[in-house]
Amino acid sequence: MSIQIFGLPVSRGVAIGRAVLVASSRVDVPHVFIDPSRIDDEVARLYAARDTVATEFDVLKRDLPADAPQELGALLDVHQMLLQDEALIGASADWIRQRHYNAEWAVSAQLEVLARQFDEMEDAYLRERKADLEQVVERLLRSLSKGVPSPMPDAEPRDFGGDEPLVLVASDIAPADMLNFKRSVFKGFVTDVGGKTSHTAIVARSMDIPAVVGARQASGLIRQDDCIIIDGDAGLVIVDPSPIVLEEYRFRQRQSELERGRLARLRHTPAVTLDGERIELLANIEMPEDAPAALEAGAVGVGLFRSEFLFMNRGGNLPDEEEQYDAYRRAVEAMKGLPVTIRTVDIGADKPMDGMTSSELRHESVLNPALGLRAIRWSLSEPSMFRRQLRALYRAAHHGPVKIMIPMLASQREIVQTLENIALVKRQLTESGKSFGDAELGAMIEVPAAALTLPIFLRYFDFLSIGTNDLIQYTLAIDRADEAVAHLYDPWHPAVLQLLHSSISQARAAGKAVSVCGEMAGDPAFSELLLSMGLRSFSMHPTQIASVKQKVLRADTRRLASMVSEVISSEDPESTCLSLLSPQPGQAFAPRLVAS
Ligand code: PEP
Ligand code: MG
Repeated sequence: MSIQIFGLPVSRGVAIGRAVLVASSRVDVPHVFIDPSRIDDEVARLYAARDTVATEFDVLKRDLPADAPQELGALLDVHQMLLQDEALIGASADWIRQRHYNAEWAVSAQLEVLARQFDEMEDAYLRERKADLEQVVERLLRSLSKGVPSPMPDAEPRDFGGDEPLVLVASDIAPADMLNFKRSVFKGFVTDVGGKTSHTAIVARSMDIPAVVGARQASGLIRQDDCIIIDGDAGLVIVDPSPIVLEEYRFRQRQSELERGRLARLRHTPAVTLDGERIELLANIEMPEDAPAALEAGAVGVGLFRSEFLFMNRGGNLPDEEEQYDAYRRAVEAMKGLPVTIRTVDIGADKPMDGMTSSELRHESVLNPALGLRAIRWSLSEPSMFRRQLRALYRAAHHGPVKIMIPMLASQREIVQTLENIALVKRQLTESGKSFGDAELGAMIEVPAAALTLPIFLRYFDFLSIGTNDLIQYTLAIDRADEAVAHLYDPWHPAVLQLLHSSISQARAAGKAVSVCGEMAGDPAFSELLLSMGLRSFSMHPTQIASVKQKVLRADTRRLASMVSEVISSEDPESTCLSLLSPQPGQAFAPRLVAS
């Protein structure tokens, strides 16, 4: 029977495919697609782990004290039986062969399948055996993690021999796992948790695939291989759709392909408004490998390179100076002389360094991660790590225009400490004789304290970039990754708009460059509003550039400027903005179709 699950729409479009469930096991499970040439090795790895656990059970049983209760021996027999059952091991090996999962993923996927069968059993005794199965799988996973390490992700996307498209369903996906999935076959994502600007949602948008987050029970209701539709516009997931619904969505999919094709033609059109204002459309990237897509989309530079993604998926080992220098240089060279704004590491909150999901981090690791040791706070508390990164950045600046940007500054003391580190690093580089270049220095404005004391920031920095994702989170006291308060996360809130407007106006008045690099910049629903505030530089995922450019090409900034005070002083800015933007009878303000 078809069911509908509602969540938050975070990445537009329609995806139709078979569900791949990523279980949230108690053991941290790597999810990796392996190269087809490694399938036999991976199956052998699985069976070797099974044999190790079987021996563990034998030893445990042999060493049971004479006075141990009889049930203990019987329990070990049950565990041994479950371990040897083909429904566990044989079926896991099938996941490896058919889907190219690594062994850990295959075992946890099969646990998910079997656990549901146990849940549906009438007999209470049998139902309780699920806990035994979980224990057996946990042992298997531990054994796998101690043996031959899990293979590295396959660099090329797999297509499983023409199978139906796959969509990923998970309770939560760590940003680090999202990076692996970025190279994979998934055509859409669904998660139980997360907000619109959680980093999982941001990475999904950067991949330009439909995604729904905060879908609460989705990973409990959807089963492996279910046919599902992800409606990324409505935030809807339809499980096991009827043929009529399926046909309707296939039609919508074709329509949105056509629309994308139309927008793609704007790629090389300069972003100039009707009244001749040139607007800078920049790209947000996560890895140097994203740079070609930025150029391809027509970006005139990188406005935000989130360098923290270089620090993930490495078992807690930090990248050294050479490795970072190489990555930054590759991004600079790939952009062929266009400016590259690299943000110093922003680890923390919902971007933990390794594997952990944001909900694990929220609940187990720190009390209040969004308010804790993240971004520049972490960098200043780890000065040698920070200086390593700064040295790598200035050395990369020798190869092309680099701008360095500091995240989450809130106070003058942090600014001064940051500048002291920079001065020291420049002295070190001069003494070492290594080549390095100069770089403009910018501050991210993403904490209300910074927006409210902007003159201080304008004095110390060459440019500002407003991080609306965090500015909204901290202004409204709404955790951006928490689906329970996602309905309160409101970019239209007058307090947010007033901070944005005053920051943009002050920067412009001081003659300093200012851009917005949060998700608002890439959402065409906000393009006119931001233009009306005087913003002339927007940084977003490459995939969003064409839609925003379409808005720019239809805008008249002089007309828009006249509406700003009414919008930001309104109790309901969204409605006020919409009514001011809708063409009045006799007005020549009607949108012109530019991409048809
Ligand atoms: C922001 O906060 O708006 C931003 C761009 O930074 P991040 O999303 O990486 O926190
Ligand atoms: Mg931020």
